[in-house]
Amino acid sequence: MIKKILLSFPQGVAGKPMAMELIKTYNLDFNILKASIDDNIKGTLLLEIMGEEADINAGIIFLRQNRIGVQDILSGVDVDEEECVDCGACTAVCTVNALEMDENWKLVHHKDKCLECMLCVKACPTRAIHALI
Ligand code: SF4
Ligand code: SF4
Repeated sequence: MIKKILLSFPQGVAGKPMAMELIKTYNLDFNILKASIDDNIKGTLLLEIMGEEADINAGIIFLRQNRIGVQDILSGVDVDEEECVDCGACTAVCTVNALEMDENWKLVHHKDKCLECMLCVKACPTRAIHALI
């Protein structure tokens, strides 16, 4: 299976060779989609990991045991509900209906449909949509 995860490295952990450990110990392969390191102190890493489901789950447990935050990424974007005013502008640019208005004119985000085109990020007048990748 293939899974996207966002890793958050706290201070003191960023330099450890966790990626090599994932490959060697858990038979996983990965692509780095995005990396951000703050003065070599802490950072985030967006990975696409590939392998058997059990190996991926074991690898994620290993990362968490080493104080690394692991978040599943289903969509390329995140909608901040506090900033969203349900204007519907983003739904006009989302070609796969990952962003839709419900019958009460409230925005619904179907994360599993997202193709990561990022068109909605610029379309939002309140900047409520944030790119994760
Ligand atoms: S990134 Fe593209 S596919 Fe995903 S929700 Fe935004 S417009 Fe839709
Ligand atoms: S464009 Fe922005 S404010 Fe409007 S519905 Fe979409 S996320 Fe909410």
